Amino acid sequence: MPVIGILIGLIAGLAVWIVLDQVQSKAIERIFGRELSMRLDLRARESLIRFDQYMTNYAATTRLLANHRRLAQYLEPLFWFPGEIVDPVVYAGFRPFWLPDVFGRNALLAPSHVLLVDSRGLVREVYQAGDARLPEELTGNLNQWLGGLDEVRSVLARFDDQPYLVVSDRVEDASGYTMGSLVVLVAVDAAFLAASEGSFSADRSAVALIDADEQRILASNEPQQLIPGTLLSEWSDEYLVTSQSLPAYEGSNWNMLFATFIPQRIVTKMSDKVIDFERNQRLIAALVFIAVFSLVIYLVSARLNKVLKRMTRFSQRALGIEQPGFRGGGNQLVLLEEWMQHFTSLVLRAREEMRRKHEHEMRETEALKAAIMEASLDAIVTLNRAGAVIDYNPTAERMLGFDRQAIIGLDFVGTFVAPNDRAHFIGLLRESSRRGPLGERPHARTELRAVRDDAQLFPIEVSIVPIALEEEPVYTLYIHDITKRKEAEREIKGLARFASESPSPILRVNGAARIVYANAASQPLIRAWETEPGGPLPTRWCEQVRAVLEDGETLEHEDDLGSTIYALLFVPIQELGYVNIYARDITAVRRAEQESRQHQAELVHVCRLSTMGEVATGMAHELNQPLAAIVNYANGASRRLKSGQGDSAALVDAMAHISGQAQRAGEIIKRLRALVGKQQPIRSAVDLNLLVREVCSFVEFETAKLELQIEQQLAEEAIPVDVDLVQIEQVLLNLVRNALDALEERSPGERVLLISTRRVEDRALVRVRDNGPGIPPERMSLLFDPFFTTKETGMGMGLPISLTILEDHDGTIRAESEPGLGTVFQVELPVATEALDERARAGTPGLTDARPLMLIEQPRAGGTHG
Ligand code: ADP
Repeated sequence: MPVIGILIGLIAGLAVWIVLDQVQSKAIERIFGRELSMRLDLRARESLIRFDQYMTNYAATTRLLANHRRLAQYLEPLFWFPGEIVDPVVYAGFRPFWLPDVFGRNALLAPSHVLLVDSRGLVREVYQAGDARLPEELTGNLNQWLGGLDEVRSVLARFDDQPYLVVSDRVEDASGYTMGSLVVLVAVDAAFLAASEGSFSADRSAVALIDADEQRILASNEPQQLIPGTLLSEWSDEYLVTSQSLPAYEGSNWNMLFATFIPQRIVTKMSDKVIDFERNQRLIAALVFIAVFSLVIYLVSARLNKVLKRMTRFSQRALGIEQPGFRGGGNQLVLLEEWMQHFTSLVLRAREEMRRKHEHEMRETEALKAAIMEASLDAIVTLNRAGAVIDYNPTAERMLGFDRQAIIGLDFVGTFVAPNDRAHFIGLLRESSRRGPLGERPHARTELRAVRDDAQLFPIEVSIVPIALEEEPVYTLYIHDITKRKEAEREIKGLARFASESPSPILRVNGAARIVYANAASQPLIRAWETEPGGPLPTRWCEQVRAVLEDGETLEHEDDLGSTIYALLFVPIQELGYVNIYARDITAVRRAEQESRQHQAELVHVCRLSTMGEVATGMAHELNQPLAAIVNYANGASRRLKSGQGDSAALVDAMAHISGQAQRAGEIIKRLRALVGKQQPIRSAVDLNLLVREVCSFVEFETAKLELQIEQQLAEEAIPVDVDLVQIEQVLLNLVRNALDALEERSPGERVLLISTRRVEDRALVRVRDNGPGIPPERMSLLFDPFFTTKETGMGMGLPISLTILEDHDGTIRAESEPGLGTVFQVELPVATEALDERARAGTPGLTDARPLMLIEQPRAGGTHG
């Protein structure tokens, strides 16, 4: 059990004890005092009643005696003469006839004197019980002591400091004649008082008769303790005294009180008992308080402790603060106090933190709001319910052209909305407030015209946001100046006419390749595609649409529709997901190109024929050799056959030679035919080295004539090129022939003609170099012009045609020359990506067999020429 809990319990118990002591003991004292005085009162009253009763018994006995038969009989013969002075008859020690022993029978103390008094009050006879003499005051006239006619009179009198009870009653003789009175005198002494109280004074309370004037004890029932003659004040320490007057016995010669004495120690003992009892009560109460307080404090503090711990843990978690280290140890109250302090500090900190956060957020929100208001490109105007301006951002100032202060409070509609649009705007304001707060439904927005301060009208777009504030609903207007947009719209409308007016087809298709727009000029194209506006593109173009949208790059394709050829330019508009198709009718262009190509081919052919004229001379000469050999072998064979000497083996050998030579002649003729023939250009992959060798073989005759050996420096690896064999051979042949022409000017021994091939990355190079006279610089720029020639028999078409052919093959040709030293022509072609034609690789003779020998006019394959 925690010490502090007990300590607090103790303090509380003590406090309760002190309070109870203060309050309860006084109350008990009061109650006890009241009770005591009541009891004393009662006791005194009872004593007095007993005393009174005792004296009443005397009165009754006196009456009995006065009316006794014996007394009447005794008085019958007597006659007391009035005025007669006589000594009274005294009966000392014995009772006379007229006095029977009625007192003893009535358990009363015997009176000290019984007197017979005559009607004038003089004592006639005296009975005296003991030695005591009749008091002086009773020896004379007794009238003052005697009662009336019919009543017994009891008086407490005092004679010689001794109180006496004097009881008198009328006496008559037997004939009823009033003789006088019977007076009984009893000493009220200790015995009397003791007898009157009987056994009731067992509790050692005493009674006494007191002289009221002197406050002195006259007689008591305990004369040893309460000594007669002593003053009442002497006993006040030892006794509690209650004194009562004795009104029934008035007429006395002294002022008398009846007093009851209760010993102080009895009272003290009683009060001690009460105090003890009360102290025990207080102690029990205090103990109970201590126990209850300690328990309650312990339970409450433990409970509070728990709650605070939990709350602190929560707040710690919320604030991210460390667990505090407490000094309290196991003491719940100290712990509780520390928890409370800690918790309070946490709460204060949290409150401070939250206040700071809140302020910070408020500041940020304010700053943000201000920044938004400041930076907004839209005018923001806030109206109250009546439509008056209550707030306004700088853009609004600029847009509407009013000073901020002048505008606050103005009626917005009347000031800034064009008269024709006011009714519409007011209707919109009302509708917007019916639409409810932000976010529930889209805001009311409209386009209307606003009035600037210079009375100019301009178009705006207004969005109205009603805000239900607590005091009053307000409207926030977001105003956008749409002057530029309107202008742009007008411009776009104007621009849109371009497309519709365009003589070329313009279409727009969406991502799903559906035509969303087609101008009038695209009707024939759409018809040819067998679709319609809103319909799909032909499937062959759908893939292109998807591709350009994906890559974002423009693509151009041709669409040959038989009678018409269109160039289609696919332009993606990625952000809108559209593709614009700009079509161009290129039928005429393509026809012209085809024609020019045909012309070119014919020209090439003519050119080739002219070249071949010369080549053919050489070839015809060359043809002589195999033919002569054949003739020789044939003659030889027939001679042998005729002479009969020829064995079959020799004949077979001769036949083989004949056949070989005939084949060679056939090859030569074939080549000639191929060169002369008019052919359709066909591309195939061939080895460039092979072409070079072939061309060299064409001019063997001429080189021999010039006493010149063509030097070939060919690349070791095959260089595949995708070309038209005849055309490229023609180019190379032309270069070789020009070189040979140039070398004619050199003396035979000096002539050098070098042909080299090389591959540089994806380009194939052929260089034809001669050491002829070279070309003067001024002629260099004219080399590729048609009909430029320096030769008498020249046509001046060789190089221009070569250039055209090479351009057709994505190739180039260029010349370098140093006058006097020679000329180099370099041809460059792209390397083919596909594999070489098997035969081309093998380099078999009759390479040109692969092509048709006769010109057959075939339709061109659609639009694939690069
Ligand atoms: P042609 O051979 O019919 O004259 P070309 O177009 O083939 O037509 O040649 C044009 C001219 O270029 C030639 O007449 C010649 O003057 C010059 N030419 C061409 N090749 C050479 C060369 N290797 N050396 C010097 N001049 C050349």
